[in-house]
Amino acid sequence: MEKISERVMALSPSATFEMSQKAADLKAKGFDVISMSVGEPDFNTPDHIKEAAKSAIDNNFSFYTAVPGYLSLREAVCRKLKRENGLDFTPAQIVVGNGAKQELCDVILAIVNKGEEVIIPVPAWVSYMEMVKIAEVVPVQVDAGVQQNFKVTAAQIVAAITPRTKAILLCSPSNPTGAVYSREELASIAAMLAKYPDIIVISDEIYEHISYVGGTVSLASFPELKDRVVVINGVSKAYAMTGWRIGYCAAPLPIAKAVSKLHGQYTSNCSSIAQKAAEAAYDGPQQCVEDMRAAFERRRDLIVSLAKEIPGFNVTVPDGAFYIFPEVSALFGKKAGDRMISNADDLAMYLLEEALVASVSGRAFVAPECIRFSYATSDEKIVEAMRRVKAAVEKLK
Ligand code: PMP
Repeated sequence: MEKISERVMALSPSATFEMSQKAADLKAKGFDVISMSVGEPDFNTPDHIKEAAKSAIDNNFSFYTAVPGYLSLREAVCRKLKRENGLDFTPAQIVVGNGAKQELCDVILAIVNKGEEVIIPVPAWVSYMEMVKIAEVVPVQVDAGVQQNFKVTAAQIVAAITPRTKAILLCSPSNPTGAVYSREELASIAAMLAKYPDIIVISDEIYEHISYVGGTVSLASFPELKDRVVVINGVSKAYAMTGWRIGYCAAPLPIAKAVSKLHGQYTSNCSSIAQKAAEAAYDGPQQCVEDMRAAFERRRDLIVSLAKEIPGFNVTVPDGAFYIFPEVSALFGKKAGDRMISNADDLAMYLLEEALVASVSGRAFVAPECIRFSYATSDEKIVEAMRRVKAAVEKLK
């Protein structure tokens, strides 16, 4: 008897966590590895947020909360959506869970039926395809290659729509590409989707604050899409709170209720203490968000200028998030001694072993010609990592 379900057997392990595990193993053996594989800010959580968590412990916020989260937190999320995005949501439309990751997966599980399709522009974050597989639905990929700045057009989406299309999942700013859709680009997608009123739009806005083009626009702000956009967001990236595990969906009421029903059966609420910390993040001073954004922008400029000097790296300047995603196919077929670099997996492994720099192969993001480096690390590490990568790449003949 096969012990493990087909559902789980069909899943790929998270490539980013796999690579960081390999890097950690090398580090444990004493190697000076620079980790650029995982997507998380290197900053500490701001003090006023930590204080709120400490006082939540002292004030005994230690009991189960409402399944979708404390009402006070959901109200704080609604205030945030109004203040920063001009959106009107009620607390009943918000479900808080263990990170944007859980909320995204739950929304997919709450809306799709077996055999339906979800449109996903690629390159895409590693987990989208796998979440869709968990829900036993078919991911329909739409190619947003480097030649189109990693963005899909409305016409491409139309071509992918079938009678089975249930939802489209968009991410801006994007992980892994850093692409940010402009208001005009989103308006053209919204105008096209207006003709398909049954398609639900899932908008992953987790990198919303890490933008270098003067902000981002929420897809939920287009009136044509009223009552069918699900916004996914959370505190991980904006407030340097990846480990606290707080994210949310802001959804049309029936979807929010369905997500809450799912939670009620398999997770209940997420950490009461972390919820209080998130409340402080949303209601407290926002300067920390801008300070971190400005630091990421400076690092973006630094890493782009250095990566452009590396032979075979075709670097697109990212407008948001904290990744560069160079197209590296010019290096495929080259060798270092006996070692052949046939694809992005080989290159990522070569760079880990030869340069002691951990990156992630683009294959996991459905971009097998690219490789991803996270620059959410110090300026010194960025400079040293790019120096080592350049030296290793120069050895390839
Ligand atoms: N969406 C994207 C595109 C991400 O990159 C991530 C984190 N890597 C998430 C969602 C999930 O974030 P979290 O679960 O930490 O809130």
